[in-house]
Amino acid sequence: MQFKKSIITAAAALAFGAASASLFAAPVTAEGTGVGKHGDLTVAVTFDNGRIQDIKVVSSKENPILAKKVFTELKDTIIAANSTDLDMISGATFSSKGLIDAVNDAAKKAGVTLGKADKKAVKKAAKALPKNATYDVVVIGAGGAGFSAAITAKAAGANVVLLEKMPTVGGNSLISGAEMNVAGNWVQPKLGITDDSAELHAKDTFKGGDGKGDMKVINVMTHNALDAAKWCRDYLKVNFEADNLFFFGGHSRKRALIPFGHTGTEFITKFQAKADELGIPVITNMKAEELIKDKDGRVTGVKATMNGEEYTFNAKGGIVLATGGFGANKEMVKKYNPKIDERFKTTDAPGTTGEALYMAERAGAELVNMGYIQTYPICDPISGVIELIADARFDGAVLLNQEGKRFVEELQRRDVISHAILDQTGGYCWVLWNDNIGKISNTVKEHANEYEAFTKQGIMTTCDDLKCVADFTKMPFDQLQATVNRVNSMTGKGNDKDFNHRAGLMDLSQGKYYVVKAVPSTHHTMGGVRINEKAEVVTKDGKTIPGLWAAGEVTGVTHGTNRLGGNAYTDIIVFGRIAGAAAAAAAK
Ligand SMILES: Cc1cc2nc3c(=O)[nH]c(=O)nc-3n(C[C@H](O)[C@H](O)[C@H](O)COP(=O)(O)OP(=O)(O)OC[C@H]3O[C@@H](n4cnc5c(N)ncnc54)[C@H](O)[C@@H]3O)c2cc1C
Repeated sequence: MQFKKSIITAAAALAFGAASASLFAAPVTAEGTGVGKHGDLTVAVTFDNGRIQDIKVVSSKENPILAKKVFTELKDTIIAANSTDLDMISGATFSSKGLIDAVNDAAKKAGVTLGKADKKAVKKAAKALPKNATYDVVVIGAGGAGFSAAITAKAAGANVVLLEKMPTVGGNSLISGAEMNVAGNWVQPKLGITDDSAELHAKDTFKGGDGKGDMKVINVMTHNALDAAKWCRDYLKVNFEADNLFFFGGHSRKRALIPFGHTGTEFITKFQAKADELGIPVITNMKAEELIKDKDGRVTGVKATMNGEEYTFNAKGGIVLATGGFGANKEMVKKYNPKIDERFKTTDAPGTTGEALYMAERAGAELVNMGYIQTYPICDPISGVIELIADARFDGAVLLNQEGKRFVEELQRRDVISHAILDQTGGYCWVLWNDNIGKISNTVKEHANEYEAFTKQGIMTTCDDLKCVADFTKMPFDQLQATVNRVNSMTGKGNDKDFNHRAGLMDLSQGKYYVVKAVPSTHHTMGGVRINEKAEVVTKDGKTIPGLWAAGEVTGVTHGTNRLGGNAYTDIIVFGRIAGAAAAAAAK
């Protein structure tokens, strides 16, 4: 008798529960669910005589770029090996586990027993990469700075390669909120802001970094910001919200453009598409290990490794170092700033480990400002990741301690808020907002995945009234009510007598209320290689290293002691483009 392909539903699965693979004389498809990084992940797996024939992703909330290899490489390997007894994709372990659990669930429902992996089937064919190759420009690190450099160099006619040590591209730029400060941008006039300027932006940046930033470099960033943003909008086709801006702490004007989706996915997707269109090879799993110099001290290439094999990439024009920061390297963070010890989790991507800084140092680069490490104040107490949903803070959400009191201006600098939180009972705080604020912020809508995940984790809830908020947070209700009454009595710009909220407090008298618990995490490393305003890497003696440029979080002179929100994206794109253009020109 012929069986038709079928989806085993939950009800039918019960009936099939005890069946064995031999029952199926024809392909059978069963659905299974696992939990990925951002929630449930469901697949439909087709089995034929106990072997997996096909896996289709039915629904997933995973980041499409971070989890790309999970849904291609890992999925194909599961099919080839007919097993889930496999290594996770590095950098995407939660998504890998979600897929494996989903396939196991489907197998269970189909009554199929999956075995141990056939290691021969699993062994991937080595990539046919030449061991020694020559390009005009070699860019190291496929985050926003690296992509900007590679695309600019390629568009200038150079033969470019982009190397990335992780299995997936994007780095911190991908998981970033990706809001980008641009004075004089096209949204500001719609919001009545007509008095912003690159000079004012530079002044804010310098002041925000306690005067430790390099004003020449800062000025290059702020004066090229508008052009960089237009390049993203018009050339890369990055979509920005048309009539909304972010007002980050430490800025005197609301000036941060917001990409669709409020994350770096919008940028990295467009970067990758442009790189594909231009034919730029992006080699993942390729880790830069050592810069090569000629007898005159010019950087002429880089030695890199993939799966333990060494590869040499020669660069006629030069190398652009765009390897990001070291926020995910706990030892390195503690070495340069012992106050930020192992108690701190991190908001950063797993590749943000900074060893390329030592590689640059060995080539003569000066490392500066390494002890200036920023913590982000509002993060998930369990994973350490930023609670993007609590960006409602920028539109009026208040920060409360366990006693139900405000304790800091919510738009203060990140370091100020982080330290203030650590000084509160338990070293955490609660972020509280209502629909009045949520309507402007759209954060619950934009970050529905977080909303679901934090609620499941038990660190967030939604309430109709403050009694429910007090019950959930265990704050004293009377104090919470008193705090909210006081906030309601001081709404509007210039009226916050307690903490001088610079944008003005918002009315919190009506629900729904949203409340989430938060702690600070290590977020941004301000230090790095010294560059000049041309993105050239500079030695301790103040000389430039020929053939070596750097851009982005790997550099250490823009932000001083403290990066203002929204300035990193401006920095990576402005200096990525400068470095890419210069390296391409040097190849001619
Ligand atoms: C959660 C979060 C939210 C943020 N929100 C904002 C925001 O809203 N606005 C803003 O301006 N900034 C924000 N930032 C900061 C900003 O996103 C980063 O500073 C910026 O994206 C860094 O870009 P980059 O290209 O320099 O480095 P990355 O994007 O980190 O890219 C560096 C890449 O280099 C790779 N690499 C490292 N070493 C090697 C090696 N040896 N060989 C090969 N490859 C290597 C890494 O794996 C990585 O992919 C945020 C950061 C985080 C973590």
